[in-house]
Amino acid sequence: MTYQIHVNLKERSYPVCIGEGVLGQTGDLLAERNSSGRVVVITNPTVGRLYAAGLTETLTSSGFEPEVITVPDGEASKSLTTAGKLYESLARRKVERTTPILALGGGVIGDLTGFVAATYQRGVPFVQIPTTLLAQVDSGIGGKVAVNVGRLKNMAGAFYQPRLVASDTTTLLTLPLKEIRNGMAEVIKSAVIHDPVLFAFLEANMPVLLNRDVKTLTYAVHRAAEVKVNVVEQDEGDRGLRHILNFGHTFGHAVESVSNFKVGHGTAVAIGMAAASRMAYRLGMLSGNDLERILKVIMAAGLPVSMVAKNASPALMRAMLHDKKIDNGKLKFILPTGIGTVTARTDVNPEIIAEVLR
Ligand code: NAD
Ligand code: ZN
Repeated sequence: MTYQIHVNLKERSYPVCIGEGVLGQTGDLLAERNSSGRVVVITNPTVGRLYAAGLTETLTSSGFEPEVITVPDGEASKSLTTAGKLYESLARRKVERTTPILALGGGVIGDLTGFVAATYQRGVPFVQIPTTLLAQVDSGIGGKVAVNVGRLKNMAGAFYQPRLVASDTTTLLTLPLKEIRNGMAEVIKSAVIHDPVLFAFLEANMPVLLNRDVKTLTYAVHRAAEVKVNVVEQDEGDRGLRHILNFGHTFGHAVESVSNFKVGHGTAVAIGMAAASRMAYRLGMLSGNDLERILKVIMAAGLPVSMVAKNASPALMRAMLHDKKIDNGKLKFILPTGIGTVTARTDVNPEIIAEVLR
């Protein structure tokens, strides 16, 4: 089964194709949108070893001439240094402004490649081929591209929409379970903020999803991607509605930073979603039953619902106050009011914040 979601934005409309075997159709999908010729694929050794040959094959048979550039695996590659090396490599190869650049990999490759595509010669056509669950439901959609500057996450970036997003869900079969769980946190997030049907599906199917049943994963990926597309369509420039995507992230970023990034993003977001849900319950905005359901689905994904370290609360408070999710000096929390609806609050009493962090 292949799903096509159309993203309609002011400057550009493009399809997000999700399904089994989409990688093999990428050549034809791109040929519909771009005249054939040279294309550059950027990937890392882990993903390249598994999927670069398949991608170059489909591109070649659709009349393209692909060249593959590999950067080291890991968040450290999302840097100005790596971007600089890529500009030089593209210039050496005499890559022109009309040559599409394809990102084959997870969020790191997508963010880095998108940043380079947005800026090389003031912008070249860009294609996302996300291969992690997180990238297929979150980072691959929405047009936010960036690199880190030193320790500052996503400090230099742009809004730059791709021509096409091609998500082959069979690539998730080789993804380590840890990364499946990481992405599942964002799938749960999408369900809680906007999609009660997806939420019920997750409640019924979590063990099957973690076992990487591709049909089940494909359904979940397409529903979660649809949530992201809907939100982005309504707030392309991140000025309003898009803040609901930060559910679990106000606390989550604090957890990541207090742990010195030893706690992974998905794990931190899981802890953050649990804390935000407890806060919503404490404020009388969420029923006890819905709180239970949210905590249960997070735990079913093998993700934690509280901070493991004792007495972490003061450090977390300090970290939150340093985070950028602050509105006029006030902490902003995205709180669930039911399954599928959230609301933003900036007036939460610090004592209640400390209480739900315990
Ligand atoms: P990642 O890109 O580092 O991928 C995780 C690991 O899985 C890597 O080692 C990668 O090589 C490997 N991998 C990827 N696909 C694989 C496959 N199919 N089989 C086997 N291994 C595979 O991590 P991620 O979680 O995908 O992305 C994290 C990044 O995304 C962060 O830098 C974060 O800031 C960014 N992000 C961006 C947005 C956005 O809107 N642009 C949103 C959320 C996160
Ligand atoms: Zn996230």
